[in-house]
Amino acid sequence: MRYTNACVNFMGEIRTEVYCTYQAAPKHQFRGHPESPRRMKWMEEWPVNSPFPEIRWLDYSPAAIPDVSFVHRSALLKMLEKESALGSHEFEPAPSYVTVASFSAALSAAGATLAVSRRIIDDGRGRGFAIVRPPGHHAESDHAMGFCLLNNVAIAAADAVASGLSRVASFDLDAHHGNGTEAIFWESPEVAYCSIHESGSYPGTGVLDSAPHARSRIVNIPVPPFSGNRTFFRVMEAVVEPWLAAFEPEMLFVSAGFDAHFSDPLTTLSVDTSGFHALAKKLMALSALYCRDRMMFVLEGGYDPVALRDNLQAVLAAFCGHQAFPDHFGKGPDVQVAIDPLIETIQRLHHLKEI
Ligand SMILES: [Zn+2]
Repeated sequence: MRYTNACVNFMGEIRTEVYCTYQAAPKHQFRGHPESPRRMKWMEEWPVNSPFPEIRWLDYSPAAIPDVSFVHRSALLKMLEKESALGSHEFEPAPSYVTVASFSAALSAAGATLAVSRRIIDDGRGRGFAIVRPPGHHAESDHAMGFCLLNNVAIAAADAVASGLSRVASFDLDAHHGNGTEAIFWESPEVAYCSIHESGSYPGTGVLDSAPHARSRIVNIPVPPFSGNRTFFRVMEAVVEPWLAAFEPEMLFVSAGFDAHFSDPLTTLSVDTSGFHALAKKLMALSALYCRDRMMFVLEGGYDPVALRDNLQAVLAAFCGHQAFPDHFGKGPDVQVAIDPLIETIQRLHHLKEI
């Protein structure tokens, strides 16, 4: 393991650096659409007025075509370029849209994601967050959908493998199933995918045992509506930890959607801001144990702008070792959902044993 650029504190301990990038994509917007620059309104100062001094904000360039071609076919890139050139319109029924700025915004979001992942790999360890839009986890190899144009997390995961990591894992915390990431790595033994998402929600994929050819590598956890902190935490311990322990990835990529927050207008899950803080801490601990202390989050959904700001700040507080963070919404509804039968079925299907 390389620690080339890692910092050593006065106790002689190696500090885990925190790297972030930010892209609001202000010209990628469509009237009345929830995936809009308004989502980023409360974070726009962060790269110059950081919420935590420990964060190192990285510069980045748009991803080059060869960088995204590990996961996306040239037909999709040509389609996005052509549709963007036509100007502002919806191009698929989710509805997803493009504007004249969208193709370059998508390449920049991918570039901002790669800047963080490559920095962590160069350092040999670290954690980071690409706070970018448009989001990516619904985008498949040759199909843009679900507000997503290019699959940022898949581009970075494939790039990590191409740079020499033998196995990486992608955990999807968004309220919706990341069908694009799953499909891209459907036949890739070097990439594991695990998603917790609201059962029955868009796009309807990610059902239990949807990938029998890849048991213990592709794991879907469709939780019932109103699942909140308790359910998410139980799933982390009972499924996510044994999944990581079994796969032994060299880096963890997290599709970090925050639409599981109870205020989100598009879903009916019940996680609150303190829940996201605790989940970030748990993922930090798991990545230190099982992923060589390499982990990055990539923003996906989250459509209440104030809650999104609070949730991002809560995650960054965890990354930087802080407890305090603003929470304008307070506790989520503590709804008891029956989760144990689902967990037992998933453990049995995937031969996962709680640690
Ligand atoms: Zn989502």
